[in-house]
Amino acid sequence: MPAPLQLKSFLSGAWVSGDGPQSVLYDAVTGEPMAETSTRGIDLGAAMAYARDVGGPALRAMTFAQRGALLERLSVAIHTHRDELIELAQQNSGNTRGDAKFDIDGASGTLMAYAKWGQALGDRTFLLDGDQERFSRSKRFLAQHVQVPRQGVAVHINAFNFPAWGLGEKAAVALLAGMPILAKPATATAVVTERIVRIWADEADVPAGVVSLLCGSAGDLLDHLGPQDAVAFTGSGDTGRMIKGHPKVLEHNVPVNVEADSLNAAVLGPDVEVGSDTFEMFVGDVVRDMTQKAGQKCTATRRIFLPANTLQAALEVLTDRLDQAVVGHPSERATTVGPLASKAQQQDIQAGIDKLSSVAERVWGNPSAAPDHGYYVAPALFRSNDGVDAPFVHEHEVFGPVATVLPWGGEAGEVVKMVAKGGGGLVCSLYTDDADFGGQVVLGLAAWHGRIYWGSRKVADQGSGPGTVMPGLVHGGPGKAGGGEELGGLRGLGFYMQRCAVQGDTRLLTQVLGG
Ligand code: NAP
Repeated sequence: MPAPLQLKSFLSGAWVSGDGPQSVLYDAVTGEPMAETSTRGIDLGAAMAYARDVGGPALRAMTFAQRGALLERLSVAIHTHRDELIELAQQNSGNTRGDAKFDIDGASGTLMAYAKWGQALGDRTFLLDGDQERFSRSKRFLAQHVQVPRQGVAVHINAFNFPAWGLGEKAAVALLAGMPILAKPATATAVVTERIVRIWADEADVPAGVVSLLCGSAGDLLDHLGPQDAVAFTGSGDTGRMIKGHPKVLEHNVPVNVEADSLNAAVLGPDVEVGSDTFEMFVGDVVRDMTQKAGQKCTATRRIFLPANTLQAALEVLTDRLDQAVVGHPSERATTVGPLASKAQQQDIQAGIDKLSSVAERVWGNPSAAPDHGYYVAPALFRSNDGVDAPFVHEHEVFGPVATVLPWGGEAGEVVKMVAKGGGGLVCSLYTDDADFGGQVVLGLAAWHGRIYWGSRKVADQGSGPGTVMPGLVHGGPGKAGGGEELGGLRGLGFYMQRCAVQGDTRLLTQVLGG
């Protein structure tokens, strides 16, 4: 057996290892060790200071167009190494080729989108926010809001399921805003992230201190946060709450963006006939979002709301389609559901399935369909007739290829109440050609979601499905989903910038700020 890879961190401008080994990473298919890493004993205070003092000034001196050009280099570097990264993701995360492409192309695509927005912003180093405002009768005295980069480090803590996209989508926004990043991927799947940062360091001409990487346990990282830093976190609600309540976050009022759990819903309208184009769109999206990345997507569908009038027929088609899912080795072409990313995930999801089995009926999925090695789990579809009162289903996210069907009567108000019981989500998908019904659901659920995806006949052959996060649209959601918001084109930059109202002499302000 080859010796495990030694993953390192890229801090203070150098590749470093802690005293180790501290953490072992495994091959998701075989369960064999494939890499080791350690952060024990690394001086993270010095690493944060280096990013702040060396990377920050270099990035802030660059115009948006120059930062955009940097993002373009980062995007191209990932794309150039696409095949190598796909192979690593198949091994470390158990991704099928399609799953790995979703992650890696998502990273390069998001970086490229922000590169273009940077080029369009051009030759400036900060943003004007709104128009000049007058508060007196004189035209000589006015105010202008500006947004300038925060002068600290953007600490990016990511979940295990998107080691490439998680890195790229957060980096794109922070770097364009003008903040250096310190990325901390989830330890279990850090192989792909470490490789990308090595490629960037070798090939993308990144100024010193602009990109740092911490591979392995976070250690005392958060103890070094200061008043100009920002934290963007993706992961479980529990860790998100711990970070929001960290003493240094509270002491310095460090902005924290949390992307956490979400019981994403798919709602089929009572007007939709089984077999219609709108219905086909619904089934295709649900099956893809249950099985892609073995259901380990924050935007995956967890709750499926079927109206009483088409319940049986719709359920039959749905289970027939799910029958075509093939659980197996991620490198085999026929496989549509690979293993989960880690043993801890496998145990968590199995516990969730056992819990669902005790409160709902399993209507599809053979529990013994999963291979008995590696981190596989058999996909499952449950049904609960308990509506808004269904225990567990509206509260707990089973983060695998698992969803629950919930029948409902057909009234918009009823389904709005049931979906909202999830406590706030990233995305809700809705399939209907009835504008009245659709309007009630959209306006009833918009306050509970970061995004609503409305499928209908005219767009049945378009759209990327509710599970795809687009760089130009906001990603995040209220309540249980973490209360955060990322991306959304230039909207995302606000998190990494300070808005300041500057008041003074019209001539001087215009000379200095423009506008
Ligand atoms: P997690 O256990 O909360 O870990 C997330 C990240 O936090 C990892 O990098 C982890 O590092 C780090 N972390 C843990 N303890 C920390 C501490 N004390 N200080 C600093 N960092 C710490 O979550 P996970 O198991 O990776 O992810 C699963 C959850 O993420 C799911 O429930 C899913 O809903 C959610 N998720 C949400 C989104 C979204 O966009 N909303 C996307 C993907 C996943 P280590 O790995 O080193 O422990």
